[in-house]
Amino acid sequence: MMFSVLLLAAANLVGETPLAPSRATAAALTPGQIGSRGADVSFIEHEAEHARTTGQVIGPDRTFGTVPSEASGRKAVLLKQTGDYVEFTLDRPANAITVRIAVPDSADGLGLDSTIGLYADGERLSSINASSRYGWFYGTYPFSNRPADGRAHHFYDESRLLLARTLPTGTKVRLMKAAQDKADWYAIDLADFELVPPAKTPPRGALSITAFGADPTGKRDSSFAIEKAIAAAKRRGVPVWIPPGVFRAHRHITVDRVTIAGAGAWHSTLKGNGVGLYGRRTPGSRSVVLRDFAIIGEVTERVDKAQLAGIGGSIGGGSVIEGLWIQHHKVGVWLDGPIDGLTIRRNRIVDHTADGLNLRGGVTNALVEHNFVRNSGDDGLAMWSHHRLNRRNAFRNNTVIAPILANGIAIYGGADIRVSGNVVADTVTEGGGIHLGNRFDAEPLTGRIDLDDNLVVRTGSFDPNWKFGVGAVWFYALDHPITASITVRNAEIVDSTLPALHFIGKPISGVSFDNVRIRGTGSDPVQIQSGGAARFRGVVASDTTRGGVACDSRFRVIDEGQNSGWETQC
Ligand code: CA
Repeated sequence: MMFSVLLLAAANLVGETPLAPSRATAAALTPGQIGSRGADVSFIEHEAEHARTTGQVIGPDRTFGTVPSEASGRKAVLLKQTGDYVEFTLDRPANAITVRIAVPDSADGLGLDSTIGLYADGERLSSINASSRYGWFYGTYPFSNRPADGRAHHFYDESRLLLARTLPTGTKVRLMKAAQDKADWYAIDLADFELVPPAKTPPRGALSITAFGADPTGKRDSSFAIEKAIAAAKRRGVPVWIPPGVFRAHRHITVDRVTIAGAGAWHSTLKGNGVGLYGRRTPGSRSVVLRDFAIIGEVTERVDKAQLAGIGGSIGGGSVIEGLWIQHHKVGVWLDGPIDGLTIRRNRIVDHTADGLNLRGGVTNALVEHNFVRNSGDDGLAMWSHHRLNRRNAFRNNTVIAPILANGIAIYGGADIRVSGNVVADTVTEGGGIHLGNRFDAEPLTGRIDLDDNLVVRTGSFDPNWKFGVGAVWFYALDHPITASITVRNAEIVDSTLPALHFIGKPISGVSFDNVRIRGTGSDPVQIQSGGAARFRGVVASDTTRGGVACDSRFRVIDEGQNSGWETQC
């Protein structure tokens, strides 16, 4: 409840208009507010809290450990009684739905599997799985599955369903709790609707994994067959084809100098406990293309030593990872340097127990663009110069929604970085929307770092250890001072939970702000807890809870004009 005033103010930002079809929504923002930022995606998101319902809208709430606090838009709809529903009206044809949903955990903490009914114009088309096995973590970092440890969080999971037919525009689609749907309650956050194209055909000359014994019914393990297909394809210099189907794999499959293509992320799926496509460690893999399939794991806990990424190892040398659906791993994409030259684009990276994506230690010339990341258990997108400098990497036009811990986008050290056109919404705890830090044994930030044209919404959080707020855009000089030349330009910082801009730690100098719009904060828009200096030009704040700068006498605020809505003098 501590944020109730702020959230009333924020209600003005909530749009009822359907969102632009080609842009990922940033949780209850209108197309005009998103503009050209964020990932270009194939679905339209419908927030449950804007739909017709007989259930109860819960939230807004940003209190850690509450079900609405982790929801997109900080609101969801609770269905408790048999017959309760949420009803969405399709504004364009759809044959697939993804629901972000929470159900209660089982008493033993291992998870409860349930269903909810999918109805179209009154007819039950299918049951949608609703499970708590991939969610509900307890206690302190790195968390457990024991309810007795308390501090329950990470409630939501996502369930996707491809329908046998296309529902036309105007169809009324209900998610309804019927007698057969046994969970005590369902919290529906949102539904993404899309029109999935038919299965693609194989690339010319490709070798199908089924020709090597892979089982598209998902009954038998296909790991060995996939490896045989890869080896044969490399010998002949042709791609590997993953046809439509579900292929079981329970371990890592090594990829190097090979193209693996699927029929589409809704059609071709690798699935299993421990499944992952991994590059070689030394030397790293190169010339890998992974395209148009899903890699779905079964990770239900966070064990930091476990190698349980959807994509892992070292993959560079002009490799491309695109059009994948990556779900239920520890980390979606975790790549270790040294690697040089990599493009990661148009992937959906959802429901992980740790980061969505992490480029670690000596990654250079990586472009990460148009990825949609939701419900990560740690940073959504991270660059981590762990013991080795990352250089010349870019996060461009990605959308990150509801990382359950830490930040939407985190840059831990590194040189010559560009973070542009991204949208981050709804960070939950111990982090903010965009974070730059000299921490976690990273090689310090250096060179030129540009943060251009990013939008962060309802980000930042109350830090339970510090007992104060973390900013929506924040800088933390923990291990070393921050001296890189950092420019934050054309940023929109909307409805920040506490401060919008935040400096903490050792001295931070070399940061410039140019044309930054701050709309809505839960505290002073600028919070300084370090030495150093920063330049501010055109930093305009409105709807702030307090109108000042929480100052530190060691820090110099350099007012270069056109600043308003906040007090630039300490
Ligand atoms: Ca919602």
